[in-house]
Amino acid sequence: MGILVNKCIGCGRCVSGCKKENSVPKDPFFFRTWVERYIITTDGSVIVYSPNGGIDGFDELTEKYSLLRSFFIPKLCNHCSNPPCVQVCPVGATFSTKDGVVLVDKDYCIGCRYCIQACPYGARFLNPETKTADKCTFCYHRLAKGMLPACVEVCPTKARVFGQIGLRSSPLTRFLRFNAIQVLKPDLNTGPRVFYANLDGVVN
Ligand code: SF4
Ligand code: SF4
Repeated sequence: MGILVNKCIGCGRCVSGCKKENSVPKDPFFFRTWVERYIITTDGSVIVYSPNGGIDGFDELTEKYSLLRSFFIPKLCNHCSNPPCVQVCPVGATFSTKDGVVLVDKDYCIGCRYCIQACPYGARFLNPETKTADKCTFCYHRLAKGMLPACVEVCPTKARVFGQIGLRSSPLTRFLRFNAIQVLKPDLNTGPRVFYANLDGVVN
């Protein structure tokens, strides 16, 4: 997936669309995708917040900040090509598909939380209903039908781009070719497959 940071308006439709599509528990602190607001002040301070995952959008900024810049960062599982969550799972319930999606098999997951602790992106949670590890699947059930992930489909500004890496006709291939691309926490060597265009250096 590609994220055009400049296009995200922090409306939160991706967050609510994802919750509905994937029956993510209503409890406010469980998300498969969420949006963070970054505020950089003139004295160099960085303020980050994500009220209820940004599901209801964000309030107008007040004057109390001496603002240098402000932007929104959508986040989700990075579907890493070298995923620590897969490496630590003691029963093989977390795995990578041939097409590069990291999934959890609920039937095998024993809810030990090792993968939740191992993920450096905070992308996983223990589903209180199934008692198994849960996270973004890129809406794998929709991909199987040739559809886009729900968050991509509902984004009103097309801030999210989806497609197969390496496929010439893929929108993601064009996105990767025509933008300056960065990933989150590149020094960890996890090989994230969520790519950001126009990412500010303060984001981690
Ligand atoms: S972002 Fe976290 S949960 Fe997703 S593949 Fe990477 S390590 Fe695993
Ligand atoms: S729906 Fe699109 S614009 Fe709205 S918060 Fe999500 S990524 Fe940003």
